[in-house]
Amino acid sequence: MMTSDELDGLRSTIRDFADREIRPTAQQRDRDEAYPDELLPGLVEIGVIGAVIPEEFGGAGLDDAGYRVVMEELGASDSSLRSLVSVNLGLVAKSILRWGTDEQKQQWLPKLARGELGAFGLTEPGAGSNPSQMTAKAVKEPGGWRLDGSKIFITNGTRGAVTKIFARAIVDGEDRGITCFLTPQDAEGYTGTQIHGKLGLRSGDTAEIALDGVHVADDAVLGEVGGGMKVALSALDDGRFSLAAGAAGIAREALEVSVQYATEREQFGTPIAAKQLVQELLAAMHVDVQACKGLLDTVVEKKLAGERCTLEVSTAKLFCTEASVRCADRAVQVHGGYGYIDEYPVQRMLRDARVTTLYEGTSQVQHLIIGRLLTGQNAF
Ligand SMILES: Cc1cc2nc3c(=O)[nH]c(=O)nc-3n(C[C@H](O)[C@H](O)[C@H](O)COP(=O)(O)OP(=O)(O)OC[C@H]3O[C@@H](n4cnc5c(N)ncnc54)[C@H](O)[C@@H]3O)c2cc1C
Repeated sequence: MMTSDELDGLRSTIRDFADREIRPTAQQRDRDEAYPDELLPGLVEIGVIGAVIPEEFGGAGLDDAGYRVVMEELGASDSSLRSLVSVNLGLVAKSILRWGTDEQKQQWLPKLARGELGAFGLTEPGAGSNPSQMTAKAVKEPGGWRLDGSKIFITNGTRGAVTKIFARAIVDGEDRGITCFLTPQDAEGYTGTQIHGKLGLRSGDTAEIALDGVHVADDAVLGEVGGGMKVALSALDDGRFSLAAGAAGIAREALEVSVQYATEREQFGTPIAAKQLVQELLAAMHVDVQACKGLLDTVVEKKLAGERCTLEVSTAKLFCTEASVRCADRAVQVHGGYGYIDEYPVQRMLRDARVTTLYEGTSQVQHLIIGRLLTGQNAF
């Protein structure tokens, strides 16, 4: 378990890197929809890209307390980057560690740690909140499987090395259930196309994927044939923790820059920080930030103890993501008209925060998961 000194050291290393390399260029990347190629080597070097990958596979071997720090600091500085790392680690690397064979770990984890990223291909045009409606197929053929279908909104879907493709396994014409396939992005028949014009995460890689007769070998199956939903749901538990921590980072940053702005900006002869209604906005943000912190503390405690914590993770995901939108929105309010232009980061924070209540299970889906775990009744 990482000590508090180690966690503080990690936080200041990432903050220093973010202040030097990420924050000064984030606005321009956002404007240009420019992928952060130039930042990846530095993030690999300080151990962020492979944060939770064990050292034997070239990663930094951080525990979940350290992982939370990484996600918070990236979320605070640039959510497009946070999303890229969060999918690489939360949805892919951790999943390969949990479900992969020794060969799969050897094949993919060193690449993921080096910044040859992983992607998670669950969502389809007709199957979002309900992935069991998916139609992508993997038909058994000699020596492997033939994948056909399409996926949408896949983070790291064109810039990565591997995508976890979820598809229905068909053996001798019989549907054996949703299965996860570790699919190289350079496989013949795999085409990733960037989706442009997003509200936020504009410098991230979000792709539509066409699978047209992609052949993968038998050893590409992650977990068991028919066990794909187990793989997906356990990965989403990890991914939602990453996302909750990243969103908490947005909320915290929104508050910090708002306090600073309110202290400097003067109207009616005093800093606006002295106005009661501005303080109300700041106080509301502070309450959200503290509540996020408490929820994440609970998740980390359970994870470090090796306990299952789907309820706590969904609770944190729901609250922290909604809080990030509220805090970023209030930050725009505190900044007045200046909050609406990209001279200040708060408009980007609001646009970036907005997707967090949508992906990895919408807020409605989190309410339904929490309700089901509390009552045993399925209301989907
Ligand atoms: C930028 C971005 C990146 C993404 N990255 C990935 C990725 O890497 N991998 C991946 O697989 N997917 C990814 N996604 C997809 C994302 O997870 C889905 O968009 C999300 O799960 C919602 O699915 P949908 O868009 O089809 O919406 P729908 O499922 O059609 O939902 C539309 C609305 O209906 C509501 N709704 C649906 N069912 C219910 C219900 N039973 N009760 C109440 N309300 C309901 C939803 O809450 C929502 O408000 C990404 C999306 C975006 C925008």
